[in-house]
Amino acid sequence: MHLILANPRGFCAGVKTAISALNTVIERYGTPVYVYHEIVHNTWVVSDFCRRGVVFVNAIDDVPAGSRLMFSAHGVSPEIRRTAAERNIETVDATCPLVAKVHREVIRNANEGRNIVLLGHRGHDEIIGIMSEAPEYIRIVETERDIETLTFEKDEPLVFLTQTTLSVSETEQMLAKIRQRYPNITGGKTDICYATQNRQDAVRELSKDCDVVLVVGSRTSSNSRRLAEQAENFGICSYLVDGPDDITAGWFCGNETVLITAGASAPENVVQSCVAVLKERFNAVVEEKTVRQENVVFRLPKL
Ligand code: SF4
Repeated sequence: MHLILANPRGFCAGVKTAISALNTVIERYGTPVYVYHEIVHNTWVVSDFCRRGVVFVNAIDDVPAGSRLMFSAHGVSPEIRRTAAERNIETVDATCPLVAKVHREVIRNANEGRNIVLLGHRGHDEIIGIMSEAPEYIRIVETERDIETLTFEKDEPLVFLTQTTLSVSETEQMLAKIRQRYPNITGGKTDICYATQNRQDAVRELSKDCDVVLVVGSRTSSNSRRLAEQAENFGICSYLVDGPDDITAGWFCGNETVLITAGASAPENVVQSCVAVLKERFNAVVEEKTVRQENVVFRLPKL
């Protein structure tokens, strides 16, 4: 078996910063520390923090008054921030700066009286937070059917914004359809982040000569799922695995070329455990291939 390890893969700057902020809070203040939603969408990262005394909550009412609360990398609504302040909860904001930028764009456009078409997945933590900045100005578009049901007037001021972890190619197709209906809609580049774009580019580039693509990441991770879907759209068999135990020997004959990549929230040690399984079972020979170098670093939030 020939194993190609895609570069870039795994942790992005936003995930590294959120994890490092939470580690620092634990060291500095001890536990329990509360986190609103999963700090990042990965079962390994979340269960490791749970073991160390972090409590993940999905409702602000579950956080005791006067305790310490971190907002996850996906961001939260202004209402959650307000309630936390009212209840005297110490907060640390680990929202990725690239998600925070979309929040600011919503506020700016709404203040200027522009309605917003927001491309993203309903129910995703990031979209819930962004939407809640100005719900009366926003319509979420997730499918082509959603475009047909938009009720904006053709000539009213309109802008598009996007979730940061969408498929680049599908988003371009959706935008082309939106522009057909609303030729005057503004918004230049999408808000898909550098890490999502780079990991998708690496799969597009490196999967050409592969028989199977393995994506390491949790099912809750939007950008991991997009990587697996992307390979499938190229007609390549792809599997999303949370870790080595999900790998099924029957997926391989043993003489394939396999590409391994990882979503932006998947830890490198889990990737290496998957590599070890394939080395042991199929005598895999590993080769790293780099499509793009990444050197993005974010500052830690105020702790
Ligand atoms: S995937 Fe992109 S937007 Fe999400 S945390 Fe990472 S850098 Fe930020």
